[in-house]
Amino acid sequence: MSGFVDKPEPAEVPGLVHLHTGKVRDLYQNEAGELVMVASDRMSAFDWVLPTGIPDKGRILTALSLWWFDRIADLVPHHVISTDVPEGAPADWEGRTTVCRRLDMIPVEAVARGYLAGSGLVEYREGRTVCGVTLPEGLVDGSELPAPIFTPATKAEVGEHDENVTYEEVARQVGPDTAARLRQTSLAVYGRARDIARDRGIILADTKFEFGHDDQGHLVIGDEVLTPDSSRFWPVEQWEPGRPQPSYDKQFVRDWLTSPESGWDRASEQPPPPLPQHVVEATRAKYIEAYERLTGSAW
Ligand code: ATP
Ligand code: MG
Repeated sequence: MSGFVDKPEPAEVPGLVHLHTGKVRDLYQNEAGELVMVASDRMSAFDWVLPTGIPDKGRILTALSLWWFDRIADLVPHHVISTDVPEGAPADWEGRTTVCRRLDMIPVEAVARGYLAGSGLVEYREGRTVCGVTLPEGLVDGSELPAPIFTPATKAEVGEHDENVTYEEVARQVGPDTAARLRQTSLAVYGRARDIARDRGIILADTKFEFGHDDQGHLVIGDEVLTPDSSRFWPVEQWEPGRPQPSYDKQFVRDWLTSPESGWDRASEQPPPPLPQHVVEATRAKYIEAYERLTGSAW
């Protein structure tokens, strides 16, 4: 079992049509046909959208994503039009709203990795490859790869796991030209972001992008970019290959949910319980720390 513990109702805003409730973001279309993306404070872990939100998380992700879009715009066009809150929208939408070009999304999670962790590490341990890319022997949890690699995954519905696939599989699905551009662009953006993050004391271990085509067929980067929800960020001073790395994301939440204190059995059919205040606070602090370290601005 998985999915939403409590699925939220979309807001009723004059002139907006609700399109979709994602794990974190709610999508609407305005009268100009643009996409209005609203980032909530929802948190997902272990394929569940948890019953407890992290205050300001949606605003932090929105601000960080906008910060990054500015820094990669010369590499690939992005979907952002403005951050104007539509008239009549809830006051709470301030800072969470991105008005974007509505794209024909490519159903591929375009993942770039410079370090070994997560599903990459699992695959590597099984056969020394990740998504069909052969890696050298002797790498461990958290190792830096000889060069960044493109490790695509298929996009899953709410409650399903994304599945790693080979480049050839992506080429079959979306065509060789689009696949090549996905790989080239993902690696270019990853390289840029890794260098910027590294200068600010953060290792960008891996990250996931989503691309789409605009109405003229141009490849455009959409969704959110380079946030703690879509990336593994590690504080550089604590990086130590050979063990799981401390990271700026859901680690507190995952640790608590799998601890006896939560009383939750991940393998059961039961939805996860609400998070205690200390886990909420610690998680919020991590998101803020990532934002502040990267941007150099106080939250
Ligand atoms: P899904 O919505 O498929 O369940 P998710 O749970 O990750 O995935 P969110 O990240 O909460 O969803 O919501 C963002 C949704 O908006 C994603 O489905 C993403 O593909 C889609 N999206 C992002 N940017 C655009 C865009 N410019 N045009 C159309 N869709 C977009
Ligand atoms: Mg998403």
